[in-house]
Amino acid sequence: MNYNKKTVYDADVKGKKVLLRCDFNVPQNKETGEITSDKRIVAAIPSIRYLLEQGAAVIACSHLGKPKGEWKSKLTLAPVAKRLSELLGQEVIFAADIIGEDAQAKAAALQPGQILLLENLRFDIREEKNGADFAKALADMADVFVSDAFGTVHRAHASTAGVAAFLPAYSGLLVDKELSIMGKALDDPKRPFVAVLGGAKVSDKINVINNLLEKADTIIIGGGMAYTFKKAQGFEIGKSLLEADRIDYARDMIAKAEAKGVQFLLPVDNLCAAEFSADAEPVLVDGDIPEDLMGMDIGPKTAELFAAAVKGAGTIVWNGPMGVFEFDRFAGGTKAMAKALAESGAVTIVGGGDSASAVEKLGFADQITHISTGGGASLEFLEGRELPGVACLLDA
Ligand code: AMP
Repeated sequence: MNYNKKTVYDADVKGKKVLLRCDFNVPQNKETGEITSDKRIVAAIPSIRYLLEQGAAVIACSHLGKPKGEWKSKLTLAPVAKRLSELLGQEVIFAADIIGEDAQAKAAALQPGQILLLENLRFDIREEKNGADFAKALADMADVFVSDAFGTVHRAHASTAGVAAFLPAYSGLLVDKELSIMGKALDDPKRPFVAVLGGAKVSDKINVINNLLEKADTIIIGGGMAYTFKKAQGFEIGKSLLEADRIDYARDMIAKAEAKGVQFLLPVDNLCAAEFSADAEPVLVDGDIPEDLMGMDIGPKTAELFAAAVKGAGTIVWNGPMGVFEFDRFAGGTKAMAKALAESGAVTIVGGGDSASAVEKLGFADQITHISTGGGASLEFLEGRELPGVACLLDA
């Protein structure tokens, strides 16, 4: 997959209308609709400002939530338009529809330096189905397409990939950052290259492990997924998470790592509990886990082992927490890993989703080189898969 794409800096946008795909999928209070974090809106500002300063007229668009083709008033982007306008310090014109009369009229009248936000793309089912007529109608409002929603580049939707069939397509500043940092880490990593994987399920990360076995020098596995590997090694894992149908796979992976000379590290001790709850009493278990206990976090010996393995690394990629970090009593392993990354001096990349929120919650975010803004997208990136929203952009 070629990650070397033309960016917004390569595009001639002066006096042009630019369709800008943003990720305004913000968390909201379910009752009041109030935006509970404007981080994603803030993240879109650099590309928007750049385009406006260059004399472009910006037609911004995004999805919000999962309306699945239905017009749901709770999922309107109107509150985003308001917040975006406060952040930009200028009016954000809001269209009452996506490609309808209001949007078309407002897009046609839009002047250089002005910004228009279209209504929630997913109110129209053709967005997720990548309907060519819908993509063309979006494209017809503009002269140039800029993709800045990394969180959806793994989807072949009308606004993420379809429009590129009709317009010259460039990456925005956010997408460019993701591509240059993660793309380089995978293609030409500073070595040793260490991958740290955790989270609940082996099955979600099989393709990631497969791909990283070809590239990494060390693979560290923690979290719930580690227990299927431990079982494959012949250890007792008690009531810990187990994917019985993945035991053979886990065994093969361990063998493959050995054959390739990739160091493959698993937990040696675990913080366990009798039940899955925030106030369960933690029990430290070395080796085999008794029948009545489940592994909830890596133990201190493991934390030390893992920290030692990332020390001296050139590049570290981390996806998935080391334990049930949402429960304070079982957040220690994830915290230790975050600290080890922060202190490693390596290029450190944290995949989106849970590991990103763990690093943020635990206060290490500013010591990490790059925290990806896309959960699913960064996972597919690590799988080495072609991302439709990236493949469609012009090659540099
Ligand atoms: P994922 O979405 O696959 O990255 O998984 C993240 C989730 O895995 C988090 O909600 C964690 O609480 C959960 N998790 C991590 N370690 C364990 C464990 N030992 N047992 C159960 N769940 C875990």
